[in-house]
Amino acid sequence: MIDVAVIGSGHNALVAACHLARAGLEIEVLERDHVIGGAVSTVERFPGHRVDRGSSLHVMVRHTDLVEDLELGECGLRYLDADPWGYAPSERPDMPGILFRTDLEATATSIATVCGRADAAAYRALMGDLLPAAQQLMAMFTHAPTVTGIARRARELTRSHGILETTRRFLQPADHLLDATFDSEPLKAALAWLASQSGPPPHAPATAGHLMWVALMHLRPPGRPVGGSGMLSAALAERLRRFGGRINPDEEVTDLVVEGGRTCGVRTATGREIRARAVLSGAHVLNTLDLLAGAGHEPRGARSRIRVGDGIGAAVRLATTAAPAYPDAPPEALIGMQLLVCDRRRLRAAYAAAITDEPTEHPAALVMTPTSLDSSLAPPGEHSVTIWTQWCRYDPDEVRNRRLREHVARTAIGQVEARAPGFAETVRAVFVQTPLDLERELGLRRGNVMHVEMAPDVMFGLRPLPELSRYRGPLPGLYLTGASTHPGGGVFGASGRNAARTVLRDLRRRDPRHG
Ligand SMILES: Cc1cc2nc3c(=O)[nH]c(=O)nc-3n(C[C@H](O)[C@H](O)[C@H](O)COP(=O)(O)OP(=O)(O)OC[C@H]3O[C@@H](n4cnc5c(N)ncnc54)[C@H](O)[C@@H]3O)c2cc1C
Repeated sequence: MIDVAVIGSGHNALVAACHLARAGLEIEVLERDHVIGGAVSTVERFPGHRVDRGSSLHVMVRHTDLVEDLELGECGLRYLDADPWGYAPSERPDMPGILFRTDLEATATSIATVCGRADAAAYRALMGDLLPAAQQLMAMFTHAPTVTGIARRARELTRSHGILETTRRFLQPADHLLDATFDSEPLKAALAWLASQSGPPPHAPATAGHLMWVALMHLRPPGRPVGGSGMLSAALAERLRRFGGRINPDEEVTDLVVEGGRTCGVRTATGREIRARAVLSGAHVLNTLDLLAGAGHEPRGARSRIRVGDGIGAAVRLATTAAPAYPDAPPEALIGMQLLVCDRRRLRAAYAAAITDEPTEHPAALVMTPTSLDSSLAPPGEHSVTIWTQWCRYDPDEVRNRRLREHVARTAIGQVEARAPGFAETVRAVFVQTPLDLERELGLRRGNVMHVEMAPDVMFGLRPLPELSRYRGPLPGLYLTGASTHPGGGVFGASGRNAARTVLRDLRRRDPRHG
């Protein structure tokens, strides 16, 4: 019998596995895919092009000490700073765009040039206000969401503005905060588009909090691992092996072994039965519920209460002969996210089109050109470009999905062409990931890259459901981690470490020899 069988090799599961193995436990990670890392992985999509399958830019994990704590540098991980981290080109070719750098003053200077001094001063003030709150939130994210823990940290969070005003600030739509703060629509649109990356549209209640990660990027720039996003998972896998843990790709967990109401192990598609003192699932919570259903232990009503949503967006991965050439853009503008939204009406229209099932001709587009920072990702003279578009509705129909892929590719490339004339001519190969494609390749149910919605009814002690929110599954011996659990999606690893602490505590209680 081993100590912990881990289902899935998403980065949270790998972080948890590393912590458990470091504590001296015998760990085996089982991954259904031939690639390790789930949505933090990089593959050769086109000849000579290393392309991310999911995430590209790492923000949250850089505000933890995970990389240093696990000494991932020794295991091959090297981050490149994506600074400037954002560029919002103007719709008018004779006007400069807004350049967002980690240096707040430099960003304010760019905003002053494009939007005027009043908005530059307002941006400085807003970020000064958001940053301490963002740091308090990070402290909440890196611990299990217990009621007492949240209450203790909430006291810190509400210290400067009081509980009612802080609550009002968090519950307001991002759009309302932006309207109350700035005059310039292009600035509001760029910030609203950044806030939308968690999924909900910026006119929705409680989206103002999604601007916190903008503030964090003024503390430390987001990073790209050299060699692609997947190098984080590769380094975690190497660290796990050095701690004595095992990882088996191509080994899907098909069943939970349940005896006497306790989870005692897993069975895999290769026919193996692995007995374990604990099972930690890093898969989407609906996959875990499927396994529980197979064992006859799915909690009644749980599935229908979990808000998975209907997809967030679609990714278009391109091999090109040039990076987009935005008129008037400085060369460093291509290092970070290129925010191709100048007016929030575009965001509302794109969202409305998705929820009414009418594919839009004008999707909101966020462009990244990883080769601008890391030339090792493509052959000499070629570029790798990703266009992320929102919103895109999940549709399980195969024929409509094929049409959707073509539509998404055409309209996304069209958005870049409109700002960087001549871009479409440089495209040599196209690979589209619709919500259905993301579900099939990465196990992201209904294409939600955050597993379940990032909204107040599914956060903290409510994620994915109140009774499953503390990393413990519905049966003894079964534990949960990953984006389905607190603090949610994105490249972070906090859920993995929080879950590992819970598993360790419980195992030590059952068997003090492991203490
Ligand atoms: C296109 C795209 C772009 C993104 N961009 C960014 C970005 O730039 N920045 C950012 O911070 N975040 C981004 N994200 C979100 C982020 O990548 C995810 O939220 C995060 O990686 C989820 O990690 P996780 O630990 O929950 O595991 P997941 O990545 O969801 O992995 C779960 C793993 O479990 C495996 N599994 C499932 N069932 C079983 C089973 N029965 N047996 C064995 N294995 C199983 C799956 O195959 C998978 O490998 C993006 C995601 C996508 C898809």
